[in-house]
Amino acid sequence: MAEKVDVVVLGMGVGGEEVANSLAEQGLTVVGIESNLVGGECPYFGCIPTKMMVRADDMLAEGRRIPGFAGDSTVKPDWKPVARRIRDVATDNWDDRVAVERFEGKGGHFVRGAGKLAGPGKVSVNGTTYEASRAIVISTGTSPAVPPIPGLDRVKYWTNREAVKVEQLPESLVILGGGAIGVELSQVFARFGVKVSVIEGMNRVLAMEEPEASAVLGEVLHRDGIELFLNARAMSVEPRGEGVTVMLADGRAIIADQLLVATGRRANLVDIGLETVGLDPSARLLEPNDHLRVGERLWAIGDVTASGGFTHVAIYHAGIVVDDILGKPGPGADYRAKPRVTFTDPEVGATGLTEEQAKKKGLNVRTGIQSTGPATMASSRWSRTRTAACSSVPRPWVRGAATPSASSSSPSSCRSLLTSCAT
Ligand SMILES: Cc1cc2nc3c(=O)[nH]c(=O)nc-3n(C[C@H](O)[C@H](O)[C@H](O)COP(=O)(O)OP(=O)(O)OC[C@H]3O[C@@H](n4cnc5c(N)ncnc54)[C@H](O)[C@@H]3O)c2cc1C
Repeated sequence: MAEKVDVVVLGMGVGGEEVANSLAEQGLTVVGIESNLVGGECPYFGCIPTKMMVRADDMLAEGRRIPGFAGDSTVKPDWKPVARRIRDVATDNWDDRVAVERFEGKGGHFVRGAGKLAGPGKVSVNGTTYEASRAIVISTGTSPAVPPIPGLDRVKYWTNREAVKVEQLPESLVILGGGAIGVELSQVFARFGVKVSVIEGMNRVLAMEEPEASAVLGEVLHRDGIELFLNARAMSVEPRGEGVTVMLADGRAIIADQLLVATGRRANLVDIGLETVGLDPSARLLEPNDHLRVGERLWAIGDVTASGGFTHVAIYHAGIVVDDILGKPGPGADYRAKPRVTFTDPEVGATGLTEEQAKKKGLNVRTGIQSTGPATMASSRWSRTRTAACSSVPRPWVRGAATPSASSSSPSSCRSLLTSCAT
């Protein structure tokens, strides 16, 4: 059975939902297909619940900083309100009824199921094929990438999806991966009293950011009692009672009650029928043009694209695609000042390229570091600014910036790094 429609949105996460709602609002016939929850990773398993956790651990840390600055404090961590707020306030107990009704209220047609491209202009789901006269948008996002470590299939591990649902904290936790998700969650759980270890293959945490940011963060995590295993490779995992043992390549064994795998993301591109529209079914990510087109009447947005990875990017993509589908001329995507933040304490904010990335692109980079601290703020904060400018043009403009900011453990620190490179 085939049904003719204007637009099919495959994957109703952050980006897909935005496109589907906007186009339905414009009066187009839009089918939105979602296999799990409308809203996607960010509101149910990513940004929102993890930031609720981060906010809670920030409060604990602030409370513990009171002595010496503002009186006395006794802080008793309790995970129950955090779990309750995530369940009841943020995710509605992982129920997307409100989001589905919002889309349907705009005239959209919602289908729950795993959709598949079925040739140019066609998407099949639950035995029905939809023929889209104007557009198909691929917005299937990512899932946690789980490395093929021997023994991992024999233990009960968390990814971010289980970590945000936890009602009772383990006594100890070992985290595979010291990237953004790994470090954010390491600090959350450590500040709630969990003994946390982080295993990272690179020689620093947050290896995709400036080395100075990694150094500050490494120091702070250490002060939070987190044990960092850097340059470390997990060779195998074994069950140990209710817990796990992670064996490292150098022979060390890390024992914990719980394992969290935070080793990156894998785009949901397998089995969505890319080959039926002339795209590579083994592609790791899609590489659309600057208007997010990947084919004739075919667009791809958000985390399935090489430029994705953040909610604001998926929303930015959605805006460009909506205009393009409606035939409104507008500028294409521009990532020269792409912003991002890792919400540790201190936060690590960054824009555009790191110095290393700029150099790899063959840009002529100059760097500068400015320290201003200890500053006169209430606590012993200090700040440091690092700039990198391209010297090949007379007036370099800001191309990237990274700022580990705000206060952390006492003495708290604030450094900012600025990378500016002209094209
Ligand atoms: C722990 C964590 C914390 C994060 N924190 C932040 C943050 O603080 N700030 C930030 O900017 N970003 C953050 N992110 C990233 C952010 O969540 C993503 O960038 C964003 O969700 C991408 O949106 P998307 O629409 O591309 O994909 P998603 O949100 O992943 O949505 C894709 C949707 O497609 C559905 N789908 C997949 N295949 C099919 C199919 N065949 N048929 C139908 N439906 C399908 C999926 O079920 C999913 O709902 C975080 C991510 C994680 C994991």
